[in-house]
Amino acid sequence: MGRIGAAGTVEPYRMEACSRHIGTKRRHLSAPASSTQPRSVDAPQWPQPATLEHAMPGYSDPGFDTLALHAGAAPDPATGARAVPIHLSTSFVFENSEHAASLFNMERSGHVYSRISNPTNAVLEERVAALEGGCGAIATASGQAALFLAISTLAGAGSHLVASSALYGGSHNLLHYTLARFGIDTTFVKPGDIDGWRGAIRPNTKLLFGETLGNPGLDVLDIPTVSAIAHDAGLPLLVDSTFTTPWLMQPFEHGADLIFHSATKFLSGHGTVIGGVLVDSGQFDWDSSTRFPELSQPYDGFHGMVFSEESSIGAFLLRARREGLRDFGACMSPHTAWLVLQGIETLPLRMARHVENAHAVVDFLAAQPMVESVAHPRLESHPDHRLATRLLPRGAGAVFSFNLRGTREQGRAFIEALKIFSHLANVGDCRSLVIHPASTTHFRMDDAALAQAGITAGTIRLSIGLEDVADLIDDLKRALGAAKRAA
Ligand code: PLP
Repeated sequence: MGRIGAAGTVEPYRMEACSRHIGTKRRHLSAPASSTQPRSVDAPQWPQPATLEHAMPGYSDPGFDTLALHAGAAPDPATGARAVPIHLSTSFVFENSEHAASLFNMERSGHVYSRISNPTNAVLEERVAALEGGCGAIATASGQAALFLAISTLAGAGSHLVASSALYGGSHNLLHYTLARFGIDTTFVKPGDIDGWRGAIRPNTKLLFGETLGNPGLDVLDIPTVSAIAHDAGLPLLVDSTFTTPWLMQPFEHGADLIFHSATKFLSGHGTVIGGVLVDSGQFDWDSSTRFPELSQPYDGFHGMVFSEESSIGAFLLRARREGLRDFGACMSPHTAWLVLQGIETLPLRMARHVENAHAVVDFLAAQPMVESVAHPRLESHPDHRLATRLLPRGAGAVFSFNLRGTREQGRAFIEALKIFSHLANVGDCRSLVIHPASTTHFRMDDAALAQAGITAGTIRLSIGLEDVADLIDDLKRALGAAKRAA
């Protein structure tokens, strides 16, 4: 396939996410070039459209599986290494003083310090951006760090957010308690309450936020409708696509503006690392909305830079990297980036199997007398069944919850009888997992918030892995038997 790469070891121009668009208004930057060839500031501008061409030059329309393996990477020019090298280096040597100054002043692309950018991370950023159809991405220390980076880039004291009430407990905690301490308030609305989304917007609202599949009830966010409400108000829609991954859904196609993933889950896929990725569609017009002086007014923290002038498409990521990553410092380790990349290379194969196994388990559980209800949009009984059929034709994922009949003690007996399912706090592992949300992931929520998120004392959440599905069903049968005996 030859030289297909764009970022990382070969072409670090991704160190500024969307950097191919940086300078289209003020600076003259060359087209992406090898890191071994310094760019000329007099070279032609790059008013390139946001296509996949940049991720795999020469391939204008590569398929998803090809991008999962190749986007952003290339054989290492120095050693010929085919796999992405792990660049465990804090810093990168300047060629001379002029080179150093121009890197700092963003007149040329290149890596300076790994808190801001790193060649291995750049490959991951390029790859996820390509899979999502975005203009660029930033790898972060965790999914939580990606959410915080997105919010803190747009919001400050006195700002307001509108968020779905069906969120991962940690996200709810950040919005409801922690950000409130810093003067950022959130109004929570049920994801399906369309009038609620519209009615909650205030003059100081900065973004709308929801999960593509709400955790753990699998409420499907109606992204086309909610994004239209956001856009009517001059606001972006941020979605957490952790449960869907770009294999099940590409939220930008439905109108979302920003996406983040907890790469800890399906993207890395093996329960080995904590990481996050924040992706920008590049489509939101920050300049014409009056709500974002952070992007359209001079920024004292970077010589009066106006991010939306610097890059019409990459303004958000530019500020997120130049301010949020620089100052808050929640960057991803290059070793983690490598492990996430390793996971992404088999994402299409794994997701297909995750979903296939999940469907079999959902059908099994739905037929069990001990099971009161199963919350998976695959089932017609799920309120978002029809929406899921439209937005998630490949399936609604492999993490879902069900309600066991009986007492809390029976729930405990069920979980403790499982042998293949591991009882732990994670999802999206290649191994099957189980947890009791009310006493663990969502324990900080009060009863009202739990009820709003669709969680009861009998709710059990499963994350279906890649084992033989017959063994998974066998394990569940045994555990249901144990729960029955515990009555
Ligand atoms: N979003 C969802 C849907 C999650 O399930 C989680 C963690 O469980 C997060 C975000 C936070 O990700 P991380 O643990 O990588 O910070």
